[in-house]
Amino acid sequence: MSDLRGGIDLGGTKIQTVVVAADGSLSGEARRETPTEGGPADVAKAMEDALREAAAAASVKPEELRGVGVGSPGDADGATGIVSGARNLPGWEGSFPLGETLAKALGTEVRVGNDVQVAVEGEYALGAGRGLGSLLGVWWGTGVGGGIVLDGRPWVGRGAAAEIGHTVVKRNGARCPCGRRGCMEAYAGRAAMEAKARRDLAKGVETDLFHVMKKRGKDRLTSSVWEHALREGDALTESLLRRAIRYLGTGIASAQNLLDVEAVVIGGGLGGRFGDRFMEDLVGEMHKHLFAGDNPPQMKVAELGDLGGAIGASLLVSR
Ligand SMILES: [Zn+2]
Repeated sequence: MSDLRGGIDLGGTKIQTVVVAADGSLSGEARRETPTEGGPADVAKAMEDALREAAAAASVKPEELRGVGVGSPGDADGATGIVSGARNLPGWEGSFPLGETLAKALGTEVRVGNDVQVAVEGEYALGAGRGLGSLLGVWWGTGVGGGIVLDGRPWVGRGAAAEIGHTVVKRNGARCPCGRRGCMEAYAGRAAMEAKARRDLAKGVETDLFHVMKKRGKDRLTSSVWEHALREGDALTESLLRRAIRYLGTGIASAQNLLDVEAVVIGGGLGGRFGDRFMEDLVGEMHKHLFAGDNPPQMKVAELGDLGGAIGASLLVSR
């Protein structure tokens, strides 16, 4: 058996796989689009194919890997490998034995974890959180996810911890994709921001956002669409991003008042693109709410980039 391990980041639009050494250095990678039709078995097959390709690039057979870790959306049960309610994947409202299915197909041990938590643990071990004792990861993308490391160990609660996107930043506030009101994600999540932009457009607010979307051949406001519209100076784009930052600052500061971690790491699709650009504004917003304002957390942007989720997932193997 080699000391190489596999990692798979299962996303709503793409499946990213890597083969890495124990220290996280990259030996091979491959990417597939996530199937938009069919069901969990079709998604699992695409994951298998992508991992095989990454293994081939690393000149190793899947069965020779020490194991494969998977970062999955939905409710990922690390003990059983079962994934439930992954609603952004086709036909995955129920439960599917993802770990067992992939282990049989690939001939090696497979471990399953929550996508954001493993990405945060990857940053903790190999990226922006190296050498720290505690951190809060805030993954700013379609939704707003989170991950917590305390005293060097991941804190997952009873399985549902770190849902920072659903901390309440405004009582009876905007409707959140989760169905409740006033969550941070209702203001900062990409999906909620798109819904607000569409409502504003219908009310007659002028914006280039949707022209940029069409020009770039997209059917939704991806993070790259937001970035291009911002660069073109679109006023609605800037105001919605600033609104998102205000509420991120409120929510993250409240979480910091509870946890008092050494660092906050901002990641995710929007976080990776806008983290540096808006960091000063975010720190300013947080400062208004920080109880220990004279000892704020270090603020960092995720360092592992597009492969971070898959590299973080590979760390599940060594546990
Ligand atoms: Zn919510």
